[in-house]
Amino acid sequence: MFRRRRQSIQYKTPQQVVKMRAAGLVVAEVHRAMREAAKPGVSTAELDRIAEDVIRSAGAIPSFKGYDLGFGPYPASICSSVNEQVVHAIPSETAVLAEGDLISIDVGAVLDGWHGDAAITIEIGRVAPEATALREACEASMWAGIRAAATAKRLGGISNAIERAVGAAGEYGIVTGFGGHGIGTEMHQDPHILNYGPVNEGPRLRTGMALAIEPMITLGAPDTAELDDGWTIVTEDGSIAAHTEHTIALCEDGVWVLTAPDGGVEQLGELAASAAHHD
Ligand code: MG
Repeated sequence: MFRRRRQSIQYKTPQQVVKMRAAGLVVAEVHRAMREAAKPGVSTAELDRIAEDVIRSAGAIPSFKGYDLGFGPYPASICSSVNEQVVHAIPSETAVLAEGDLISIDVGAVLDGWHGDAAITIEIGRVAPEATALREACEASMWAGIRAAATAKRLGGISNAIERAVGAAGEYGIVTGFGGHGIGTEMHQDPHILNYGPVNEGPRLRTGMALAIEPMITLGAPDTAELDDGWTIVTEDGSIAAHTEHTIALCEDGVWVLTAPDGGVEQLGELAASAAHHD
């Protein structure tokens, strides 16, 4: 829906973006550790312990732990959403990964007051071909959104690019209840970023914006439901879901993918900021 509320966007200086890069690299390191640890027989609680250890060893703080939407604090450092769980699933000793699972791990870290936030979807052992295709479609749509951030005039350009990329990849549902967001000295800032919509809407894209781009897509219908724990979001039809996210900064000369180890250079080429090339 059209938002009449005036957006309060925090524009970062180049020096502040460098601080966000440091936080982003902590998140990237957690992702590396998650890819290594996520195997059949491992519980999501164990993944959470590893993630928290990586974050605290880097001198950072897990952004998610204690995060409160008004119903009590989130108890863990990651969200670990398996199969039909879309986002915000709480790690648990009883959630043990099995061959064929698709797990989306979302993690946030705050370092020196600046946040990084990113998610990956990981295949556990051999998964069904449609699970791989879903994961790849989600990643491709995120990168389409990130490329659009380098070229579009308005925020809607990002949303529209994600929607078109998902549509080009196959018959997938785009989850509408959740989206990307501004990020900086808080994990969630303006603007909210829809994963669908017209090109010419929303605030102007400007140097100094830092955005978390995060499509969530499903193999079936896009409708979701919340479990009784007050956090876990699942698909209503039980179909599997994928969730991929990076934190990016709009720099004078391109986009810096703050939570990607290479700053986004491989995927973005000349659209990547020079800072990313010099990482
Ligand atoms: Mg996010």
